[in-house]
Amino acid sequence: MSKTIVRPVIHQKPFKIKIRENATGETVETEYIHYWESPETTEERNYYIRFWWEEGNGACDCNRGGFFHRARGEEDKETCGEVKYSVDISDEQGEPIYSDMD
Ligand SMILES: [Zn+2]
Repeated sequence: MSKTIVRPVIHQKPFKIKIRENATGETVETEYIHYWESPETTEERNYYIRFWWEEGNGACDCNRGGFFHRARGEEDKETCGEVKYSVDISDEQGEPIYSDMD
C-alpha cells in the first residue's frame, strides 16, 4: 500500500527572477514557483521570500547558479559561495520583493 503525502500548497504563482553572473555581467530572466506550507498574506510571503534570497538557501551560489544555468539550458556545476551571482526578485505582477543587484 502506498502512502500519499499531501502538502498544503497555497501559493503557486511564479515569481520572476533576474540573475546576473557578476564576473561576466550576463543576466538571465526566469521564473520559479515557491511552494508554501503556511498561510499567506502578502507581507508574510514577501518576508519569507526576502529571507530565502538574502539569508536562506537562495543566498548561496549553488542555488543561484542552478537557476542561472537551467535558464540557459546548461548543466549546473556551481559550488557554494556568496559572490558569483546577484538577483532581483519580483512577484507575478512585477512588484519588487528583493534585490541585491546594484
Ligand atoms: Zn550552496
